[in-house]
Amino acid sequence: MTTAAQTHHFEAEVKEVLDLVIHSLYSHKDVFLRELISNASDACDRLRHAALTDAELLSEGEAALGIFLDPDEENGVLRICDNGIGMSREDLVANLGTIASSGTRRFLDAMKEHGGEEMPDLIGRFGVGFYSVFMVADRVVVDSCCAGSDSGWRWSSSGTGEYTLEEVSGLARGTVVELHLKEAEEGAEEAEDPRRFLQPFVLRELVRRWSDFVEYPIQLEVEKPAPEPEEGEEPGEPETALDTLNSQQPLWTRPKEDVTTAEYEQFYAHLAGWGKPLETLHLKAEGTLEFTALTFIPEQAPFDLSDPARAKARISLYVRRVRIQEECEELLPPWLRFVVGVVESSDLPLNVSREAIQTDGRVRQIQRHLVRKLLDTLGTLLKNDRKRYEQFWEAFGTVLKEGIWAGDDDNNRISKLCLFQTSKDNGWRTLAEVKEGMSEDEDSIGVLVAPDKKTALSSPHLEAQEAAEREVVLLIDPVDEWMLQRLETFDETPLKAIDRGDAGVDDEDTRKEREARDEDKKDFLEALRNSIGDQVSKVRFSSRLKDSPAVLVGDEGAYSDHMERMLRRAGHELPPSQRVLEINPGHPLVAALEKLHGVDAASPRVHDAGELLLGQALIREGGVPADPARFTQLLTGLMGEVLS
Ligand code: ADP
Ligand code: MG
Repeated sequence: MTTAAQTHHFEAEVKEVLDLVIHSLYSHKDVFLRELISNASDACDRLRHAALTDAELLSEGEAALGIFLDPDEENGVLRICDNGIGMSREDLVANLGTIASSGTRRFLDAMKEHGGEEMPDLIGRFGVGFYSVFMVADRVVVDSCCAGSDSGWRWSSSGTGEYTLEEVSGLARGTVVELHLKEAEEGAEEAEDPRRFLQPFVLRELVRRWSDFVEYPIQLEVEKPAPEPEEGEEPGEPETALDTLNSQQPLWTRPKEDVTTAEYEQFYAHLAGWGKPLETLHLKAEGTLEFTALTFIPEQAPFDLSDPARAKARISLYVRRVRIQEECEELLPPWLRFVVGVVESSDLPLNVSREAIQTDGRVRQIQRHLVRKLLDTLGTLLKNDRKRYEQFWEAFGTVLKEGIWAGDDDNNRISKLCLFQTSKDNGWRTLAEVKEGMSEDEDSIGVLVAPDKKTALSSPHLEAQEAAEREVVLLIDPVDEWMLQRLETFDETPLKAIDRGDAGVDDEDTRKEREARDEDKKDFLEALRNSIGDQVSKVRFSSRLKDSPAVLVGDEGAYSDHMERMLRRAGHELPPSQRVLEINPGHPLVAALEKLHGVDAASPRVHDAGELLLGQALIREGGVPADPARFTQLLTGLMGEVLS
């Protein structure tokens, strides 16, 4: 019996997704089956989990949880059925009428960012969840009955602007998704024909390829030939039987030696939905705490890696085959959030709640163990396959470095894995490699923070370093300066910002000589300082410059100019920074200025030159003069004089 159907409109964003999906030229339309099976398997997981606290939901003696595929060739209809948790009327509206799924939301965001051309690829990458059914079906009917309820609901739509809902009685618990498959377009290849998903061998092949590790049986009714007739008997009717298409073996429970690379890759695809693993870590911990983990480091970064809303690793926690939590943030710190995988422990109680997971010492112990093993895996990769490691680094290095900032870099175990660009080499270098290249009289690793590599490489601060043949580590990733606040030493060697304090290249004699000159030319330096007021604390002679006339130097431990700009942009109020302006005594411009000052100490030219030197030092490091209008005015005036 059904009541009258009510018509509802899709949320505007759902319409947008449906339009894209329906008109997509994406050729791997088979993803819809993976999506539906994954939803069905989720529904079984949820029921099993709910039954831990409400035993009545899953009474003994009833049919086991499972998924059933039911192709009806005659009518062009494919049904995907499960006896999982089901959906109430509200669930149907919320899940199938609005953008409920995180995947779909991300798909839409990525679409907006990357435009239409990449759409086919995006569909593959995000799956788009339930809505992918409209690639193959022009009408979809979902019958669902929620566990513990006796009224079922029917949701139906042809993927255009609206859907209908009506109450239906007599439904069994769970969900049936009924797809009215589109007819093949004229002249289309056979592989493009949506109706081929009615053929048992196609379904079998797809399940094996994509859903083999689903824990619940995925079954199909097949005809078995009639048994051979006994002598003198009439041949019997062919029989039907249920055939289970997937092996159902959770991969992580199998011994490592028995699992092939292809199986790992399939399982990864099953978990992540797209792409391939770069590294696989499959481990079984025994002893005081037993657990099994199968984790993967992906080959490519997802679009939303830096999205703060996605700061959790996609790692599920299972206890004795029951999935307790899908994105279990207690299992991995945020700086390993790119890892995808599964952890199963039989030592935890089945009814662990969210709160209990947060405080359970055993979960923390698993985390420590897993983090150590993952870092070991990365260390081995770095040692044995530099090229692949660099690929990893380019995708996830920024995230890994957050671990240093988070204070998790005991014994440099993270900083040993970091790669940097340096002033010497075009390629990536580890801090250990930089340290190895240091000469005996160097006692620190020089680093330079800059907004990008080009600005870094043209920094006047590098001049003396290069003359002394020192390799300087370029910190050009926004996270680097944060990291530097925590990374004071590497393997007992201090890291030193070359644009702060002294540059670390002077010996005792040079320093004395420089200080004597400062004292000697006190008036000249003071005149320059007066011309730029409070913008610097002091003007002095430099020994770090070779070709440039001037450079700004911060106090030891101060923020770099780049960092200050970032903090200000983020709304932090900082006192005006007072750095030192160092000028190059060997530069002809400085020499000429000094001469002029000797002749006419009050010359406005000396005054202007101070401002111009400061302004251009700021520009060199990627900043702007405090008063750009005044700076250009001075420059124009000077040009005018020179040219006329
Ligand atoms: P996702 O699986 O990423 O959440 P989907 O678009 O695949 O996104 O599904 C949206 C939601 O619809 C699911 O989160 C789930 O709550 C619900 N759903 C879909 N299929 C089923 C099903 N067979 N049984 C119960 N709930 C389902
Ligand atoms: Mg889904």
